[in-house]
Amino acid sequence: MQTHFFTFESGRHRSTSHLSSVSLTAEDLAATLEEIALLLELKGENPFKTRAYRNGADIIRDFEDDFLQLAKDGKLKGIKGIGEALQQKLHELAATGQLQYHLDLKHEFPESLFELFELQGLGPKKIKVLYDELEISTLGALKRACEDGSVTSLKGFGAKTSEKILAAIETRERFSGRYLLSVAAHAAEPLRDYLLQHPAVHQLEVAGSYRRGKETVHDVDFLVATDAPSELTAYFTSYEDSIETLVQGDTKAAIRLSNGLQCDLRAVSSGQFPFALQYFTGSKEHNVALRSLALKKGWSLNEYDFSPVKEDAEELPEVKTEAELYDALNLAYIHPALRENRGEIEAAAENELPRLVSQEELKGTFHCHTTESDGRNTLREMADAAIELGLDYLGISDHSKSSPQARGLNEERLLKQIQDISAMNETLAGAIHLFAGSEVDILRDGSLDFDDEILSQLDFVVASVHNSFSLSEEEMTTRVIKAIENPHVTMLGHVTGRLLLRREAYPINLDKVIDAAAETNTIIELNCSSKRMDMDWKYWKRARDKGVLCSLNTDAHSIDQLQALHFGVKVAQKGWLRKDDLINVRPLAEVTKLLTAST
Ligand SMILES: [Zn+2]
Ligand SMILES: [Zn+2]
Repeated sequence: MQTHFFTFESGRHRSTSHLSSVSLTAEDLAATLEEIALLLELKGENPFKTRAYRNGADIIRDFEDDFLQLAKDGKLKGIKGIGEALQQKLHELAATGQLQYHLDLKHEFPESLFELFELQGLGPKKIKVLYDELEISTLGALKRACEDGSVTSLKGFGAKTSEKILAAIETRERFSGRYLLSVAAHAAEPLRDYLLQHPAVHQLEVAGSYRRGKETVHDVDFLVATDAPSELTAYFTSYEDSIETLVQGDTKAAIRLSNGLQCDLRAVSSGQFPFALQYFTGSKEHNVALRSLALKKGWSLNEYDFSPVKEDAEELPEVKTEAELYDALNLAYIHPALRENRGEIEAAAENELPRLVSQEELKGTFHCHTTESDGRNTLREMADAAIELGLDYLGISDHSKSSPQARGLNEERLLKQIQDISAMNETLAGAIHLFAGSEVDILRDGSLDFDDEILSQLDFVVASVHNSFSLSEEEMTTRVIKAIENPHVTMLGHVTGRLLLRREAYPINLDKVIDAAAETNTIIELNCSSKRMDMDWKYWKRARDKGVLCSLNTDAHSIDQLQALHFGVKVAQKGWLRKDDLINVRPLAEVTKLLTAST
């Protein structure tokens, strides 16, 4: 694969208040109307008014033609349910990418109030009561009010509600100060480039959990080998995106970037560099295990060197690279992704480490969305972007009809899309092959959103849970297993439903699901959308050993999200996955055969 990775997706929260009119979609119009309805509810406006905005959002979503174009052209007159006031607003929004009325409404409330909306189970009506009665507009104030009992005394709030709110706040707090891998990369990679420009940098690596490919990171650790450490720390703290210098010493510095991310720098000598790199890459558990191996040889190991701690210590080895450090401990070189003390040290001692999959080996990906459902780009645009990335095939899977909020396709639209994809394949003349699939909702009882007659016409089927998250672990497990027992299901989508830093996984017994996937020959996806990375890396070795195939799926809702593959590979490596454990590395002919056999 000729990779063209690395225009970073920004990964920042996308607010609907300042969209560029270029990338605007009809869904953005609908979402803005819904946000206005919410704001009006907060203001306590009459329900008819709010309903008009909600209805408007529904009408946009169900509209058969190109609503966005009509709005841009100011031709919304005559559409039932879109009154004159709404027409004008939609026209302004579509033409300029923003709506003054919406912005003004937002400014009537403190920005922090909107954080309350991100708490699970807290809607506008309750937030309004909290704001009006107790003047609560921040998470901290809400927490205090729950703890001192003042929330319980409000009308419509009981002890149970108060407990639920507290639990939601605690979930949020646990996540704060952490960053998605892609968000950290977006901030840290330019800083890496900046450091590399300094002539006194002999070697440079980003260490820490970032180097280990953790799906979220707390901070980013830069390590340089240099003869001029204090020059480097001064250079580091004068980085233009730094908003605060936290530490500035002769060999250490720490700054905070404008997105809040903390970045640390350590400057060491070239001789210390391999030791420091190993040490600061971690993990702690991995390093503890290494130190005890060193002790057996009579050495202590720290971030600077080996040193003898016993009379009869073995002779100190010469270490110029990290690989030589591992070699000195009679270990094969351990890829940073594996350094979690989960069996990698034993495997390295036996020279049985897996040869991990690499990005260059990927030939395609599945599970992408287009403008047919809630994607931002058309089928053709997605295909072109995948060609640009050097992929040989791309699996399209828009949402199914039970996800109306995502404009899920009904049978008729899906069959039409299958034809469109087939026609597009003719047009593309081998530049890339598109597979026609669907991301089919797994309904509450484990049945699927389409019947077998429809499913059998698809090249592949991703089955995913999108609702009823509050089932018990047993019910959820049974539900998912029932779905993958359907022979038409090719792969299981985002298996735990987690949203990193936002929503915990729903309860599900992954061991049982993995066993069922092995039995039914169902592929499990590694959904590498940076906010999901689902299934978690800790489960992949087990899945792989059971013979379950992995599909690295981007779940891209826009062309730039195809870049998620870059981070997905890191997480796949973290899960001990080798080339043959993935479907995406196989040549087109082989994948076609495999999919034909499984649907
Ligand atoms: Zn999904
Ligand atoms: Zn999806």
